[in-house]
Amino acid sequence: MILDGKSLAAQIEQELKGRVQAVVQKTGGKVPALATILVGDDLSSATYVKMKGNACKRVGLESLPVLLPASTTTEELLGKIKELNENPLVRGILLQHPVPKQIDERKCFDAISLEKDVDGVTSLGFGLMSMGEKAYGSATPKGIISLLEHYKIPLEGKHAVVVGRSAILGKPMAAMLLNKNCTVTICHSKTQNLPHIIEQADIIVGAVGIPEFIKTQWLKNGAVAIDAGYHNKDGGAVGDIQKESLSDKCSAYTPVPGGVGPMTIATLIQQTVEASEMFF
Ligand code: NAP
Repeated sequence: MILDGKSLAAQIEQELKGRVQAVVQKTGGKVPALATILVGDDLSSATYVKMKGNACKRVGLESLPVLLPASTTTEELLGKIKELNENPLVRGILLQHPVPKQIDERKCFDAISLEKDVDGVTSLGFGLMSMGEKAYGSATPKGIISLLEHYKIPLEGKHAVVVGRSAILGKPMAAMLLNKNCTVTICHSKTQNLPHIIEQADIIVGAVGIPEFIKTQWLKNGAVAIDAGYHNKDGGAVGDIQKESLSDKCSAYTPVPGGVGPMTIATLIQQTVEASEMFF
């Protein structure tokens, strides 16, 4: 089974249009906005931010792009975030990761007010989510959970192996799967005997950032493979999991492209709409 993120994301967007219209009606014509902050001129980041802005427009939200030079300091970025926190029409703030090295990214993420943390990047939001309390989830893992649930993939009691432990992806993914009663193993660059751990996975999540790093031959027959990676290769795209024989080996898998990527954007927009509904 192909876990088709592209078509589920389109369905979600369709449903969100009506909800945005209802909010706009309630406010007498004021359109809530998602502010997207891009620091520097990284091409991939610029593309992701543009895609997020386009998705806002498709559902009828305002997109407020904030472009800052690569030389921006932590203090300057904090000042911008404060301004956006205080703007009542801005209901969601996205700070595109990664920011240039001189910036304290964690400090800046944590300056985003909890009610506007629609990308689920604040420490407080992460803590609440981990405790099973209400908070916006980090968009990529939350989108993956929505995709798994949409396709009714059984989670309870299953062994999920997450390869990667970043604050925006691997760690929240593991916490969300644990909240769904999976038994979770988190692997990282210091993990020993990775293939042996992966071959025990009922559900494998590739969040490594290395093209086709996880080999199909390591997977258990019938495993569910979720690939968060995206890399350009030979004019096409590959993920963090090897493509070859994946459909033969797995009971379900996310395609690259068209799996996790579109769900990340749809989740961000969904959470911005939710934040707007809560406020207005
Ligand atoms: P990241 O911050 O670079 O984290 C990569 C993780 O992989 C780290 O935890 C690292 O371990 C681990 N790792 C590196 N080499 C390894 C190895 N040899 N064996 C096992 N683990 C290893 O990356 P990220 O931001 O989480 O992103 C991961 C992937 O997801 C990337 O391909 C990225 O493009 C993609 N992504 C996609 C979306 C989307 O919307 N589709 C969103 C975000 C990210 P250490 O902690 O030990 O260094």
